[in-house]
Amino acid sequence: IAVSNVYKIFGRRQREAVKRLKNGASRDELTASFGTAAVIDASFEVRRGEIFVVMGLSGSGKSTLIRMLNGLNPTTEGSVSVFGTEVVGLGATELRELRRDRMSMVFQHFALLPHRTVLDNVAYGLEIQGVAQAERQERARHWLGRVGLEGWEDSFPGELSGGMQQRVGLARAFAADTDILLMDEAFSALDPLIRREMQEQLVELQQELGKTIVFITHDLNEAMFLGDRIAVMRDGRIVQLGTPNDILTDPANDYVAQFVQDVD
Ligand code: ADP
Ligand code: MG
Repeated sequence: IAVSNVYKIFGRRQREAVKRLKNGASRDELTASFGTAAVIDASFEVRRGEIFVVMGLSGSGKSTLIRMLNGLNPTTEGSVSVFGTEVVGLGATELRELRRDRMSMVFQHFALLPHRTVLDNVAYGLEIQGVAQAERQERARHWLGRVGLEGWEDSFPGELSGGMQQRVGLARAFAADTDILLMDEAFSALDPLIRREMQEQLVELQQELGKTIVFITHDLNEAMFLGDRIAVMRDGRIVQLGTPNDILTDPANDYVAQFVQDVD
């Protein structure tokens, strides 16, 4: 994934912003006149097979950034390339295919279908991918077993605890078998013990399967534990990009230094 100079203003303002950019206005002028931009400028590359963490306080633009990667948020300006394909400007059908076959997303609030069983929730994505019924069931069962939910296949999401529901979300994402996983605060709603367990499980699965994972968190310890590399965001910009060790031992500025003071 290659992201280059992305910029994002929301809503109807976006259309006006695009027009003004075309007419030669600078981002600084636009950001000043529109109040805030969610992402002002970000460039980075995510390498194949790494866990790339985006860390920053609430409101720093993390979700906006990750949603640019799969086109859920169209960029106002800049470029996003996934497997060599430019995402910016893709049509609705191509974006749907990209999300279905190449990059699945795990959300903070699980986004499970309440009226489908646990098994069907995991199999559902495979149905959309066109996987045959028997294989869907088998893969769904397999992944539910892997996340410790064997025996819960016929339950409904509402009968499960938050931690278990999040495991269903994880099983669904892994069952989909896309090369890239996008995870937006995927563990933030969990209590600390289950959260650590999920982090360990994610690393284990990642090492086994070699997926590329973009993981968003506002939690420094989680970032340090999971990240091969970490991008620290502040006010719509990446203020440092490096390994956990780089960020801990050589913070780029006072802001990052402040942030890493709290590491366990
Ligand atoms: P984070 O995920 O780091 O908390 P977000 O990307 O959600 O940050 O938000 C960054 C900024 O963009 C915030 O100021 C937020 O209010 C604004 N924003 C996010 N989504 C929208 C939206 N759909 N419409 C308008 N403003 C938005
Ligand atoms: Mg967010």
